[in-house]
Amino acid sequence: MNFESGKAGGQIRERLVVIGNGMAGCRAVEEILARDPGRFDITIFGAEPRVNYNRIMLSPVLAGEKRFEDIVINDEAWYADNAITLVSGDPVAQIDRANGAVIAKSGRVEPYDRLLIATGSDPFIIPVPGAGLPGVVTFRDLDDVEKMLAAADGGGKAVVIGGGLLGLEAAHGLSLRGMDVTVIHLMPTLMERQLDEAAGYLLKSELERRGQTILTGADTAEIVERDGHVAGVKLKDGREIEADIVVMAVGIRPATGLARAAGLEVERGILVDDHMVTSDPAIMAVGECVQHRGTCYGLVAPLWDMCRALADAATAQPGAGYAGSVTSTKLKVSGIDLFSAGDFSGGAECEDIVMRDASRGIYKRVVVKDNRVIGAVLYGDTADGSWYFDLLKKGEDVSPIREALIFGQAFASGGALADPNAAVAALSDDAEICGCNGVSKGAVVKCIESGAHSVDAVRSTCKASASCGSCTGLVESLLAITLGDGAVEAGPKTLCKCTSFTHDDVRRLILEKELKAIPQVMQELHWTTPDGCASCRPALNYYLLCAWPGEYIDDQKSRFVNERLHANIQKDGTYSVVPRMWGGITSPKELRAIADVVEKYDAPMVKVTGGQRLDIFGIRKEDLPAVWADLNAAGMVSGHAYGKSLRTVKTCVGSEWCRFGTQDSTGLGVKIERMTWGSWMPHKFKIAVSGCPRNCAEATIKDFGVVCVDSGYELHVGGNGGIRVRATDLLCKVATEEEAMDTCAAFIQLYREQAHYLERTAPWIERVGLDHVKAALFGDPKAVRRYAARFRFSQQFMQDDPWARRAAGKEAELHQHLAEVRPFPAPAPQEEIA
Ligand SMILES: Cc1cc2nc3c(=O)[nH]c(=O)nc-3n(C[C@H](O)[C@H](O)[C@H](O)COP(=O)(O)OP(=O)(O)OC[C@H]3O[C@@H](n4cnc5c(N)ncnc54)[C@H](O)[C@@H]3O)c2cc1C
Ligand code: SF4
Repeated sequence: MNFESGKAGGQIRERLVVIGNGMAGCRAVEEILARDPGRFDITIFGAEPRVNYNRIMLSPVLAGEKRFEDIVINDEAWYADNAITLVSGDPVAQIDRANGAVIAKSGRVEPYDRLLIATGSDPFIIPVPGAGLPGVVTFRDLDDVEKMLAAADGGGKAVVIGGGLLGLEAAHGLSLRGMDVTVIHLMPTLMERQLDEAAGYLLKSELERRGQTILTGADTAEIVERDGHVAGVKLKDGREIEADIVVMAVGIRPATGLARAAGLEVERGILVDDHMVTSDPAIMAVGECVQHRGTCYGLVAPLWDMCRALADAATAQPGAGYAGSVTSTKLKVSGIDLFSAGDFSGGAECEDIVMRDASRGIYKRVVVKDNRVIGAVLYGDTADGSWYFDLLKKGEDVSPIREALIFGQAFASGGALADPNAAVAALSDDAEICGCNGVSKGAVVKCIESGAHSVDAVRSTCKASASCGSCTGLVESLLAITLGDGAVEAGPKTLCKCTSFTHDDVRRLILEKELKAIPQVMQELHWTTPDGCASCRPALNYYLLCAWPGEYIDDQKSRFVNERLHANIQKDGTYSVVPRMWGGITSPKELRAIADVVEKYDAPMVKVTGGQRLDIFGIRKEDLPAVWADLNAAGMVSGHAYGKSLRTVKTCVGSEWCRFGTQDSTGLGVKIERMTWGSWMPHKFKIAVSGCPRNCAEATIKDFGVVCVDSGYELHVGGNGGIRVRATDLLCKVATEEEAMDTCAAFIQLYREQAHYLERTAPWIERVGLDHVKAALFGDPKAVRRYAARFRFSQQFMQDDPWARRAAGKEAELHQHLAEVRPFPAPAPQEEIA
């Protein structure tokens, strides 16, 4: 279309040429016309062959909720009525600043007195093989939507690369149009720039529930071709996903080509001052193509303020200019309520106020710093989004409403109701407190009055707040109201400050509620922090790994640095590396490989450890994968000397060499180590096998010790060396090697299933009592077999050498610092004994 209106005749006016018929360009013109309609003779160039429309509504057009006609902002009549010449479908190819003119692709030359650049952004295309194939589209304008609709006509499969706002809206639209949609997202959670991990998780679950396949942490390697058309997407981990159409929605870049070529100052965007004037006083710029005070925007709200400032300046009217914007985000996917604004990265000086309602799928988080709201993330209930956004923009002091802030505007401005205790006191006796277990206020009060003086006591007596924990706050209020603040008892220690549940509660609920991911646990059990802390994340990771072997995917980010790097960090920042030597036995080949590594990587020291292994010190972090590859080549795997896992099985030479030996202690030690290596445990775990009661392998100060005797094997548990030496307790005596192995496996599994994270066997046994352990293993004649079978099942998924994976270049990203989720301090000095 090349539609030109006539000019209002008569006086000579300044010639304003606008490049870009999009949202910012036309809005700027509207603002100018509103101030001084006769000031300029206006020509607008548009690359797209159509009038000005609302780009953000392309998503509803794709989803079939709107037609193009519904989203037109200014139709042809508007251009005509305002004597604007629209040159559409003919992009400007050059700005000739020397002559004050623009030259269009068609060759048309248009002189200007003032020029306005409003070219928006270009979609970013990942430079992978096949990116230019037919069937690979972006999501920026109506042409893209039409291509997607044509593809969706035949049903089929769509892959959307990018799990940000645009990608998810494209995926939603294509899914509603009947396509089978897979979203590929590089980062671990969706919309990570707008949402924290908890909200990202809820969003992913909801999209999956609606039938989309969401692959996070997935990196595209290439677009696969068949018969000259796109046929799929191949990921760097080797997976291939079929596709009839691939939508690239991985980001945008300010469209600065024309400005750069014309010699204007450009960084990421075209540099403008507070009045949207570029480095050339005759040229203004506005919209996504500009960079103002270091920021480029990708949302519409800032454009409106920019356009007002621009129009003031262009019509010589007084105005303060544009000072930058704070933005908020909503996702236009029907049925998914999501709101995000400001900064939610958190940190030491910020306070996170979190509310979760698992039954209604609600997550709310408000970040407060210096008594001001600086960020908010809402999922499931966004009614108060604009209120939080307003508080954020105005920087209001929220300390007077701090207690009620998270409950929303209605509650916070509710006078007496702003005191949660007063609100609970006002409830009637039959008001339901605990929805999960159907417990009324009257029942909870009765329970408190009859002696339950802590949350934990209430939970175990009348079950209120024993399931999802969402009513813990109400129970706490009832305790305070009934007993008075001072008389409420603390109850047992909770897992950490993020939850009111104990370790045992969390483990029980993980199984009962079939919780299979860390964000899911946090949501369902009403964690009070958005993504946990350095205490609960490693614990949850372990509990989930133990509860769902083969199903749960280890969250490496929730591990401390030694476990992530599979080596022990030393005080000078280098690492020590311990290869596994089964039962403490080695060979010339292994010794040669170790010697070679020591020389090749200049390791300053090799040390024999207390557990009969060789520890290579002083390895630089960057050399770790190469060191592992060299040790792997000699058949050695990780010794897990850094992990909350099986460390070593120490042995003596036993009956094969020693005249006192009663059994083959080395042979048994090797078998036990082969059975148990790689298993993650609540804490480190050491085993030893001695061939006779002289006990040269010191089996009676190990977590599990075998002392061979003439008639069989004495099995000992719960020993420790180190600061607080503890000799083992005798668990039982067995006659055969097979029984010794089974009992070992069963004991380890019981410890794995029942101990708290970071609790070694010694304090665990002291806490639960040896009788409890014996009853669990021997109270039922089949129990040992059952526990041992569970352990062996889990081991199928654990015995995968982490060094080999890393040496092959996998999980390289995990060599970054642990704190991707949020900065974890180094682990607190642990109460471990050895
Ligand atoms: C599908 C989709 C959904 C979105 N949803 C939201 C949302 O929910 N909320 C939100 O805040 N933002 C949303 N956005 C972003 C929003 O649309 C943009 O921030 C806004 O359109 C930017 O306005 P602009 O004028 O700078 O750029 P545009 O609207 O892109 O306009 C630039 C125009 O310039 C034209 N042009 C470029 N080069 C030339 C040239 N050389 N000659 C002539 N013309 C040229 C382009 O063709 C284009 O028409 C969405 C964007 C898309 C694509
Ligand atoms: S523990 Fe007994 S069998 Fe083993 S080396 Fe010592 S004396 Fe020999």
